[in-house]
Amino acid sequence: MNNDLFYKPQNSYKKECEDEIFSFCEGYKSFINTAKTEREAAAFAVSESENRGFVPYDRKRRYAAGDKVYYVNRNKSIILAVIGSEDIENGANIVVSHVDSPRLDIKQRPLYEDSSLAYFKTHYYGGLKKYQWTALPLALHGVIIKKSGEMVKVSLGEDEGEPVFYISDLMPHIAKNQMDKPLSTAISGEGLNIIVGSTPLGDGDSAVKEAVLVALNEKYGVTESDLITAELCAVPAGKARDVGFDRGMISAYGHDDRICAYPSMKALFDTKAPERTCICIFADKEEIGSYGVTGMTSSAYRDFLHSLCRSADADFGAFCKNSVCLSADVGGAFDSCYGDAYDAKNSAYVNRGVVVTKYTGSRGKSGSSDASAELVYRITSCFDREGVTWQTGEYGKVDEGGAGTVATEIALLDIEVLDVGVPILSMHSPYELASKSDIYAMYKAACAFYAM
Ligand code: MN
Ligand code: MN
Repeated sequence: MNNDLFYKPQNSYKKECEDEIFSFCEGYKSFINTAKTEREAAAFAVSESENRGFVPYDRKRRYAAGDKVYYVNRNKSIILAVIGSEDIENGANIVVSHVDSPRLDIKQRPLYEDSSLAYFKTHYYGGLKKYQWTALPLALHGVIIKKSGEMVKVSLGEDEGEPVFYISDLMPHIAKNQMDKPLSTAISGEGLNIIVGSTPLGDGDSAVKEAVLVALNEKYGVTESDLITAELCAVPAGKARDVGFDRGMISAYGHDDRICAYPSMKALFDTKAPERTCICIFADKEEIGSYGVTGMTSSAYRDFLHSLCRSADADFGAFCKNSVCLSADVGGAFDSCYGDAYDAKNSAYVNRGVVVTKYTGSRGKSGSSDASAELVYRITSCFDREGVTWQTGEYGKVDEGGAGTVATEIALLDIEVLDVGVPILSMHSPYELASKSDIYAMYKAACAFYAM
């Protein structure tokens, strides 16, 4: 048999690289344990980049080769750039990933008491399976802005000694009606109420609610009205953990898409004196359609790129046409326990490297930017030259559903873009699963791309 005629899947795990892979993933684990919201991810990127000589972007300045800048968009997204030695009109190599993840947002008037328990009402954020979020320890992350204008940061439930929060579920003994419902309706969005207190203060009608307000006031100096000007998110409490006897995988909240953000940031840090300008973007709001001033549909991103060009007297249109972008977002790995949902012949698999996805979208590629064969060739031949392990992958069976990424927003700028990311299992669940060697492959892919 002539083996050269056949496509052979690659394996991202290489014994000789195990130390490198595992040590890279220790860094990733500490990032994902620290950065559970887009705000925390942006703050992490600021401190890491400042440690490496990046300075805040000044739109009045002219930058020279080797200059390193960052631009924070309203505390929730960040752009990092290393200026290349080539004329910026030749374009930049841009990696975009998003740092928001599905979770339960706390409503603006959340606190109520019912049957001797105090609750926070929630409105879920992003596409999640509601039944997965009950009977699970939750932590609160976010900010509260007080009447005085002072912003209080909240992160409660992550450390061993801290309390967690909890959504109850109905015991199976009396759940006949609930168990007969489809998964999509068994738990309602309005039913995702978080228990935040149980000890009454005195014996009034709102004694438990009052006790919670007293505790909030003692801890954060806030009142019930201050919660209106707050952004609090409930996320799974708990850290990233190695999975399997071989410790080859990591389960963690919010792999999607910090699992691509971290490697692309590390790759940018390791890109010394690049020829082309290299840019790493952490975007917000991808999980709810990339809207808002911090989502990829915002002009903030275009404006930054435009400003870079203007300060170098470069033509913005030429810059965009000559730029190239990886939309670095996770792909759904084939799950043999749910094999029916996938086209096994065109799925990504765990441990076969980054997933190159020519098109996303659903039901007839609807909503996809569909990268050209020329671009797929350009990127994958670069990966081959640099020894990056990669595979192809579609989201699932043609008529089963699908997904979108920020690729469509990048393409609006006339920048060629291809989806490349880490394959994961249990996407959008409280604890997603990914292989360490694929995470490391994402880092190698971003390194190769920045040098392309
Ligand atoms: Mn994603
Ligand atoms: Mn997602």
